[in-house]
Amino acid sequence: MVTVALSCRRILCAVAVTCCLSLVCFSAFPVAKGLHISFIGNEAFAVTDGRTTLLTDFPYTSGAFGYMAYDFRKATANLSADTVCLITHGHADHFDANLFASTKFAIIAPPTVLAGLDTPRKVAFAPEMRYAWILVDALPTPHGTIEHYSYLVRWHGLRLYFSGDTDDVAELSRQHKLDVAFVAPWQLKAMIQGKKQIPARVVVIYHQTGDEEIPPYQNRRVLAQCESFDVPFAVHEK
Ligand SMILES: [Zn+2]
Ligand SMILES: [Zn+2]
Repeated sequence: MVTVALSCRRILCAVAVTCCLSLVCFSAFPVAKGLHISFIGNEAFAVTDGRTTLLTDFPYTSGAFGYMAYDFRKATANLSADTVCLITHGHADHFDANLFASTKFAIIAPPTVLAGLDTPRKVAFAPEMRYAWILVDALPTPHGTIEHYSYLVRWHGLRLYFSGDTDDVAELSRQHKLDVAFVAPWQLKAMIQGKKQIPARVVVIYHQTGDEEIPPYQNRRVLAQCESFDVPFAVHEK
């Protein structure tokens, strides 16, 4: 009996230790069950797993070139402490160095944009970069004469693609198994004209003007500013 009692106690201890360990392990993983994605304006989205926030083409100059205005204070009010900006290029409707200087955000951006910033929070630019749990592939794409990158973001098994301002849809066409593709209206139209499928479960339009008509194609979505949606991790784990 004593032996049995001791064994039981040992088993209970083992279970308790295992539970503690799994709690410790669990705490290393995101608390959220998916990515939460909110539209700020123009090509700016806040994407978060509850611990880290990725801000695409933000901060930009509100209303630059007649594109969407937004409230900088509101947009930055409830961000996670750990936030990184992902910048496709240096046009003012995508990036504002003065606004960025007023934040504590880290930044991934083309070398020409990084060169103008005096901060230790730059991620060294490379074809593949990492920030926290986020992997970023930088894909050079043409946009006039300015240095410009589209990005493939891999995060908790999800694949997000940000086209930026490029006129060329060749890189977008080369992608595969995207969970979300962020695509400008002119890129959507080029894909329609070329009868090409956008290789994504969800297509989100960005860089539209407020009243711009976006043709229907696949399951494309056009969000209002401040509107958000979730992409669950589980869907991709099948
Ligand atoms: Zn541009
Ligand atoms: Zn633009």
